[in-house]
Amino acid sequence: MKKYDGWVNPSRLPVCRMHDQVNMILHQKTAEIFIPDGQPVEIALQRTTHLCFSAHQDDIEIMAAQPILECFQQEDKWFTGVVVSDGRGSPRDGLYREYSDEAMWLVRNQEQRKAAIIGEYAAQALLDHPSTVIKDSSRPEPVEDILALLRATRPQIIYTHNLADKHDTHVAVALRVIKALRSLAPDEQPARLLGCEVWRGLDWMIDAEKILMDVSGHANLQAALLGVFDSQISGGKRYDLASLGRRRANATYFESHEVDKLDGLSYAMDLTPLIKDDQMDPGDFMHATIQHFEKDVRERIGRLNQS
Ligand SMILES: [Zn+2]
Repeated sequence: MKKYDGWVNPSRLPVCRMHDQVNMILHQKTAEIFIPDGQPVEIALQRTTHLCFSAHQDDIEIMAAQPILECFQQEDKWFTGVVVSDGRGSPRDGLYREYSDEAMWLVRNQEQRKAAIIGEYAAQALLDHPSTVIKDSSRPEPVEDILALLRATRPQIIYTHNLADKHDTHVAVALRVIKALRSLAPDEQPARLLGCEVWRGLDWMIDAEKILMDVSGHANLQAALLGVFDSQISGGKRYDLASLGRRRANATYFESHEVDKLDGLSYAMDLTPLIKDDQMDPGDFMHATIQHFEKDVRERIGRLNQS
């Protein structure tokens, strides 16, 4: 039985095909770069100051609200989002229950474009790699696409998934971003690489190592950016409420002895050492981060449990 293909007519979608616009080759023929304000792709990408690589449609808005808000309505700061996977296999329910993988792909890409319009992104790239390809470290295509976008954007700060995330595709994207960054010359490297919260919060990290991302204010925009992903939310997962709740919880539980200074807080881990030292093993790096947490817990118990 053929599954319902949804209402989406691909010919009506506002798509800029990368291959038509600039001399930069992305691997997938179905990859696209969407420019909300209609600037030429090359110019749109060049203005990028804050760049985020995510695995799926909606991850960017969950983990990188802070740079989106920091760039919003600014002349000299521009946010660009990159979704690396195709997002085809997502769970579906309710209105979307009978949608085929193809229809879900169209809907999810359209939702991502809506977020790019609301957030006034410089550009939104959809690389369209199958998750199996991203997770296979012998496949060069995702790394090469990431590298092409790094060279076209030259951002100051890069955001991606944190290495303690529990979703394989998320961690694989972070590892491919690190690999691509390591192949850049030192003068091409960004100032910072940050790993952000989606499928695991970073409250467990010791405070000295947490990167604090203030997401106070613009509650309306934050809700709108999360709310457009109707196919994921009405499919039964309230990512919108959960993400806003996590931001509020982080803000309140960060300091026990002070009144809340922030309405919302997101955490990130600083992954910059992994691009400054290309011999450093990401597993060793995370082991050290976890050991710092272990030491903190052990020391407190030891101090309070002396006989
Ligand atoms: Zn995801």
